[in-house]
Amino acid sequence: MIESTDPLLRVRNLRTSFDTDRGVVSAVDGISFDIKPGEVYGVVGESGSGKSVTALSIMGLIDSPGVVEADAIEFRGEDISGYSDAEMRDIRGGNISMVFQDPMNSLNPVMTVGEQIAEVVRHHTPVGESAGFWRELSRKYVTGTDKESDSWQRAVELLDTVGIPDPKERATEYPHQLSGGMRQRVVIAQALAGDPDLIIADEPTTALDVSVEAQILNELLELADEFDVSVLLITHDLAVIRETCDRVAVMYAGELMETSNVQELFNNPQHPYTRGLLQSIPRITDDREWLDVIEGNVPDLINKPEGCPFQQRCNYSFDMCDKPLERHRVSDDHIARCHLHSPEVDTAAHDFDTEATGDRSITSGDSGIIADGNGGDDL
Ligand code: SF4
Repeated sequence: MIESTDPLLRVRNLRTSFDTDRGVVSAVDGISFDIKPGEVYGVVGESGSGKSVTALSIMGLIDSPGVVEADAIEFRGEDISGYSDAEMRDIRGGNISMVFQDPMNSLNPVMTVGEQIAEVVRHHTPVGESAGFWRELSRKYVTGTDKESDSWQRAVELLDTVGIPDPKERATEYPHQLSGGMRQRVVIAQALAGDPDLIIADEPTTALDVSVEAQILNELLELADEFDVSVLLITHDLAVIRETCDRVAVMYAGELMETSNVQELFNNPQHPYTRGLLQSIPRITDDREWLDVIEGNVPDLINKPEGCPFQQRCNYSFDMCDKPLERHRVSDDHIARCHLHSPEVDTAAHDFDTEATGDRSITSGDSGIIADGNGGDDL
């Protein structure tokens, strides 16, 4: 449920690149978006589109030789893009937490799951228990957390909240003693332990069995609602987006191609790439013998084509497509970066059906092109 229009997270012109022997890889190439309080915001795209790098860049987790630049990464109105490592450590796990694809990468194999959650509670909430280096070291290797302490009690409570049976007992177990689904529940409990405002969930169920995938995802979103936490959900799966998100950004080759509220995107996709993704989804009512796939591959991010990065795979590509892309407002909450939406282009002449297109008169300026840096607009 969206509660406020002021962004919780405001990202402007985020660029992340990696200097390699072959040249500079532009993994994220000038993207902008807002996440509002209480919102579930989805980022969808093929592998290699830059979704995960976007999340890691926001969290300050890109290591050298990666370089992260941005005009702004504002969290609750404060620009965190220039924060030191220590300041970002305070943000991570507290204000913003992450749920990664593989829980084994997030959990420490030699600490009980209760210890790991209790540690986050001590570091990021006012329980009044010492979280100094030596005290934590002693807990980790000698004493363990006092089972009567508030941090331990909170850890057990959180395990219960995320649906782990017999949480008191489970809190004393190690990650390898739990199933994959339970481990991911532990990671969700850990993500909630710092009382965050935003959870970034990067393909949180991809590594799990199909049987528990939907269950865990639903639980994550129900808990986010209950705890009043926004979610940035990264996935390659448009069906997951449709079921879970309020708004969505479609990402391709490090750029955002289309953003919209979810219903509008599914009813009225206005970017050829989005349409291609939607056509590749199997449907129960399908009478197609073969699924439509988008032919070709994501371009080399070292030598991206001038203009639209999708042009080599696009059935509608035309002579304007090697010119820099601009953002075109399709409707109030729907923006597409595609030259077919340029006011001077006759879409019918390109066989591009825009019949379901929203009211183009709701545009910023006569041209329908949104000026760069216009606050509050994605892409
Ligand atoms: Fe296709 Fe051109 Fe639009 Fe890119 S800008 S999606 S190449 S029509």
